[in-house]
Amino acid sequence: MSIVFCNIGWMKNYDGIQGDAIQRGGSYNKDSVGHEVCNFTHCRGKIYGYVQPTGRISVERLGAPKGAEQADGVTVVWTAGPDTGGTAIVGWYTNAKVFRDLQDIPSPCKKHRDNKISEYRIVASADNAHLIPAEERDFLIPRRVKGGIGQSNVWYADKPESAALVADVIKYIQSGTRTSRLPDVDTETTASEGNPRLVAHLRRERSPSLVEKKKKSVLAANGKLCCEACEFDFEATYGKSGYGFCEVHHLKPISQMDKGEVTTLADLAVVCSNCHRIIHRIDPMPSIEQFRRIITPKS
Ligand SMILES: [Zn+2]
Ligand SMILES: [Zn+2]
Repeated sequence: MSIVFCNIGWMKNYDGIQGDAIQRGGSYNKDSVGHEVCNFTHCRGKIYGYVQPTGRISVERLGAPKGAEQADGVTVVWTAGPDTGGTAIVGWYTNAKVFRDLQDIPSPCKKHRDNKISEYRIVASADNAHLIPAEERDFLIPRRVKGGIGQSNVWYADKPESAALVADVIKYIQSGTRTSRLPDVDTETTASEGNPRLVAHLRRERSPSLVEKKKKSVLAANGKLCCEACEFDFEATYGKSGYGFCEVHHLKPISQMDKGEVTTLADLAVVCSNCHRIIHRIDPMPSIEQFRRIITPKS
């Protein structure tokens, strides 16, 4: 199976610009002309995708015979850079046809006409297209590192050093529509919507096994779970019902790393629900020490 990564502007729905907006992702994306606004518009059972390549698309690198005009059976991974930084997977087509040159859409639908979209580079059956909701786009692709995505909008990921990343992406795609919406903390949707780094941070600190391990080790050491910021103890206030309850916060902001770093118990802090929410409302995220200083003492 061949795979290609195509970087486009950041949008919510890619189903026409009406009611949506396109934001330029990485700086290298400035020359893109916004033809991707209909990349997830259903049109007579098909979906027509656009990416702005540097020159032509090398279909040979996608398994097409020399001189062919198109490559078949390609997995196309769409990526975009939100304002908060990084490059996130926004969706994919499977079993797509990728063309070397620009093609005319055979019979553009109304959405296409309204958005003045008449050309495409990639086509797939609409059933094989999957767009991830903006607030769940938490798979970040490392850039400008060995094995990571480069400067071009079209990335073939066919170097040996990219193999591990590609395997992870394929696993992610095959796991399909993950329904695991983020529970509980930061339900203020504006905070996490379109912010894959924050979503990734929250997902990481909610790993159930890590949270359990952290709580156990703190309980074993101190005999109680107190908020490291304000010293609130759920058991002291709520009695039995509060025993063993606390939230766990990841101390490292995710902004310096894209993926793969292992979390240790020392990276986690026990916090109460109030402090935890407020910590995540502050940008940039404060350390526990910094946060303690802003808590007004009860006199
Ligand atoms: Zn607290
Ligand atoms: Zn947190």
